[in-house]
Amino acid sequence: MICLGIEGTAHTVGIGIVRDKPFEILSNVSSMYRPAAGGIHPRDAANHHASVFTDILKKSLDEANIGFGNIDLIGFSIGPGLGPCLRTAATAARALALYLEKPIMGVNHCIAHLEIGRAVTGADDPVLLYVSGGNTQVIAFMNGKYRVFGETLDIGIGNCLDKFGREVGMPFPAGPRIEEMAKRGKKYVPLPYSVKGMDVSFSGILTAAMHAMERERIEDVCFSMQETCFSMLTEVTERAMAHTEKAEVLLGGGVASNRRLQEMVRKMAEERGAKFYCPPGKVLVDNGAMIAWTAILMKKSGMEMGIEDTSIKQNFRTDEVDVKWR
Ligand code: AMP
Ligand code: MG
Repeated sequence: MICLGIEGTAHTVGIGIVRDKPFEILSNVSSMYRPAAGGIHPRDAANHHASVFTDILKKSLDEANIGFGNIDLIGFSIGPGLGPCLRTAATAARALALYLEKPIMGVNHCIAHLEIGRAVTGADDPVLLYVSGGNTQVIAFMNGKYRVFGETLDIGIGNCLDKFGREVGMPFPAGPRIEEMAKRGKKYVPLPYSVKGMDVSFSGILTAAMHAMERERIEDVCFSMQETCFSMLTEVTERAMAHTEKAEVLLGGGVASNRRLQEMVRKMAEERGAKFYCPPGKVLVDNGAMIAWTAILMKKSGMEMGIEDTSIKQNFRTDEVDVKWR
């Protein structure tokens, strides 16, 4: 089976083509909306997705070296995400499915990060630490569902880094620049370590980091933000592993590109005798291949979706999905 998957939950629109037997990502093309100033405006991001859509569709088919006739299934990100972006991706998916007379499958974006991670790294039953711009969740499979064991109570970790970056004049996305700055940090500036049970929160750290900028070096503030936020994430991930008795940890989401976060989670896993997995960059960030692959898993498990079932779900919860493929 060959699936064309469309990702469009937030800043990135992506089209990936995946074959199941043998598993191969035939193409994975995306385009990221970068606001000229300020944060992401959902409508501007959606306009960006619509304007580049046909271009990346052509590129994706070319890269996969196939035509429309080879496609068996259309997958798309049905949620969670920004309404205008989700609607743009869903509209394109419906149009393609109707035009090609192929089945359609709406995919939960968070679960797609986990499934592509399993497929490309060989992890079997991991706890996923999913850290992106808008989402921060610790997810694992238990009793027929992907369940959220911990999550942010306010903003996503990437959002925290990007907002800090914007305040200090870094272009979007700020995460990679903060990582570079942090390497030159020499001093830990205390920031409010905010773990509440299994959940985390970042808005207090953001405010404290902004105040710290009045008296501290930016390199030290970036270093301290990373140390604080990433320690919190590592702590709740470890507790989820202990609770679920799982011996694998997988990273997902754009913030997982960060070497310091990888190092902390890897070390935690090693100390527990668990395995650490981190997919390569192109499948770590939002991408169409993860949607295509998850759509294939859903389809092959017997799930069906009609066009009438494809309304977007802005607040789609990870544990709402009935996982028939595991
Ligand atoms: P995603 O939403 O999963 O596509 O990831 C985008 C987010 O990842 C943005 O908030 C970026 O700032 C963040 N990000 C990307 N690279 C890094 C990095 N090296 N360190 C920290 N955050 C990063
Ligand atoms: Mg994502």
